[in-house]
Amino acid sequence: MQFIDLPKIDLHCHLDGSVRPETILDLANQQGVTLPTQDIEQIRELMIAPETCQDLDEYLKRFDLPLSVMQTAEALERISFELYEDAAKENVKYLEVRFGPLLHLESGLTLEDVLASVVKGMKRAESLYDINGNYILSILRHAPKDRIKEVLDVGHQYLGNGIAAFDLAGGEIAGFCSEFIPYAKYAKEQGYHVTIHAGEQGVGQNVSDAITLLGAERIGHGIHITGHHEAYDMVKDQQVTLETCPSSNVQTKAVPALSMHPAKAFLKDGVAITINTDNRTVSNTTMTDEIQKVMHEFALTLDDYFTIYSYSVEAAFTSEQIKKHLRSFIPA
Ligand SMILES: [Zn+2]
Repeated sequence: MQFIDLPKIDLHCHLDGSVRPETILDLANQQGVTLPTQDIEQIRELMIAPETCQDLDEYLKRFDLPLSVMQTAEALERISFELYEDAAKENVKYLEVRFGPLLHLESGLTLEDVLASVVKGMKRAESLYDINGNYILSILRHAPKDRIKEVLDVGHQYLGNGIAAFDLAGGEIAGFCSEFIPYAKYAKEQGYHVTIHAGEQGVGQNVSDAITLLGAERIGHGIHITGHHEAYDMVKDQQVTLETCPSSNVQTKAVPALSMHPAKAFLKDGVAITINTDNRTVSNTTMTDEIQKVMHEFALTLDDYFTIYSYSVEAAFTSEQIKKHLRSFIPA
């Protein structure tokens, strides 16, 4: 089987962690941004996190370089387009990209400019390739909260038309959910779907909190529900979909090795798991690589693969019409 030929869905992919290294070099030169080197291989090395980092924070340092050139409307449109193009070329049929709009205001862009640019880039790719997508607006948990509602208000006009959901991302501390209850509530009232990064760094309780306190419909990672009975049962009983990202989980030491990843155990127990990239560049991966790694490591069958694919279809924050199209790739 050629893994590249399989239809794919990626529900968890960060824009700033998935920029082509060549584009960083190109944009930096256009924008007069000083890079530590002009050598493309060295740029690549600076952007890719080591196979195993000290921790999540070391991993997150890889985002500084891309963010430095993602401060203009043209750059955001291009990077968005290229990410959807790269995904389409490996048969990703549906891709949800997330990013923090507040991280792109350093050179004078407004929130409106930022959101319009990424949506425009996505739509350009949708018009050229057999791929559909949506954006998820991420808020960094450690950042000031004063502009969260403004992000949601500006994004509101794109709901159902390029933007679909609200997310909390960044380093994970125990008990973070309680601080965000009013924001998640506001997002839901506005019509946003909600997915929350939780249970990535060993705090199962954060997963049950994200579901009960923030109304999360999906969980980013969520792998540490293992050993936390309340969270595990809640995820399983309510069929809350987990967006797992195996390579990233190994890099950030969320699991000691791929063989220790709970993907297969979850799958066999009927937990709705999905396989995603997290960061194409920082994790040096693609959907093809992730699926190949997981299927090899855990000796999954094609049936297993399409069970995972179906979980992704049903959990996608998109219209019934697009879901119907995505279901059409499942062999009868
Ligand atoms: Zn993530």
